[in-house]
Amino acid sequence: MARDRRHVWHPYASVVDPTPLWPVVDAHGTRLVLADGRELVDGMSSWWAAIHGYRHPVLDRALHEQVDRFSHVMFGGLTHEPAVALAELLVDITPPELTRVFFADSGSVAVEVAVKLALQHWQGRGQPERQHLLTVRGGYHGDTAGAMSVCDPVNGMHGLFRDYVAKQVFVGRPRPAFDEPFLDSDMDEVREVLRMSGDRLAAVIVEPVLQGTGGMRAYAPGYLRALVELCRSYGLLVIFDEIATGFGRTGTLFAMEHAGVVPDILCVGKALTGGYLTLGATLCTDAVAAAVCADGAAFMHGPTFMANPLACAVARASTSLLLAGPWQETVAHLGELLRAGLEPARELPGVADVRVLGGVGVIELADQPDARRLQAALVDRGVWVRPFGRLVYTMPPYISSDEDLAAVTDAMVEAVGEVAVHRPPHDQRRTSGVSAHPRPPEVRR
Ligand SMILES: *Cc1c(COP(=O)(O)O)cnc(C)c1O
Repeated sequence: MARDRRHVWHPYASVVDPTPLWPVVDAHGTRLVLADGRELVDGMSSWWAAIHGYRHPVLDRALHEQVDRFSHVMFGGLTHEPAVALAELLVDITPPELTRVFFADSGSVAVEVAVKLALQHWQGRGQPERQHLLTVRGGYHGDTAGAMSVCDPVNGMHGLFRDYVAKQVFVGRPRPAFDEPFLDSDMDEVREVLRMSGDRLAAVIVEPVLQGTGGMRAYAPGYLRALVELCRSYGLLVIFDEIATGFGRTGTLFAMEHAGVVPDILCVGKALTGGYLTLGATLCTDAVAAAVCADGAAFMHGPTFMANPLACAVARASTSLLLAGPWQETVAHLGELLRAGLEPARELPGVADVRVLGGVGVIELADQPDARRLQAALVDRGVWVRPFGRLVYTMPPYISSDEDLAAVTDAMVEAVGEVAVHRPPHDQRRTSGVSAHPRPPEVRR
């Protein structure tokens, strides 16, 4: 721990006033084993990724086999079976319109690639003035410059990087909520914005149906359908970011299936490799590819570790494993247990909302809690759930047992009950090593 503190930077963290850390020495199934011997039940799937849990024999074997062949070769001028097989598989499981696959090193890079494809597409089509993107508030698309420009401008990082981040066009958060009726008037703002600037916009980019890190909110599929239709009527390309929602998490293989709409460009990542290695992919239609490559042009992107064979091999193994199992029933069951398990939180003081979509369960608090106390209260109860902002949320591995899920939801409800309400200081139970003084909120995730 001392060596970590001396040199290592953690996500969204200060090195001057660092938040507590728990060293992991082993992980298997749904368990994270800490250095002090404690085992935590994982409720995070390591940020939406480890859907099959840790050290899954099928995924381990795929990696071992590929290591024994070769671990990496450059992708310029060379190709290999793991990349080709994974591209075929991705084309197979996504809508038939999506035929081309560009491999990226992470989700954020997949988003950069999507944006560059959209811009190059309009250059190829002789409309280079289409330079800007339309998006909704409350979105999250990654931490690189292009991705940041389409994250929520308030709870994202626009304030910090004002002149660095490209100016994009924002409309309000998608409305209404997932199971509420969509009204035509919910499109009024989009309609107005498109009327004003539709001919300058290259594409619309959204997370279909579920906004993840920007607030864990599911919105009506009808909104997505109407947005896509309206944007297309002004010629915009449609980019779906399914980096968080892909691979079954919302109950359908991809969240866009709730709305029955197909994008021109699709980004995937996170659960793509079952959480083993970093990999993203951007898929597009023949029409987009043809425009990008018009007049002898090439697409101008090419990461050093593009289509890393280890990442591709484990992604193929993870995706095949998912498809071979009853993932719909698994995620539906997960959702039922999350709904039942989190429901008691609704009655707790300080709780604003409890919601579940697919395998994502959320307790939203009315006020910013003491994040350190909340985190410690969860770990003390033997689960790994990482709150952010006013949200205490879980997206457990699909392999979670009923007992695992009960452990996670019970701990969430109890920890929220203990910490969310600001009690007088004499009533605050200090947890060893955890400061009880209020922290600035962690902004992301
Ligand atoms: C996590 C996430 C990203 C960024 O992916 P990284 O692999 O962290 O770069 C982009 N979009 C969405 C919707 C995400 O959830």
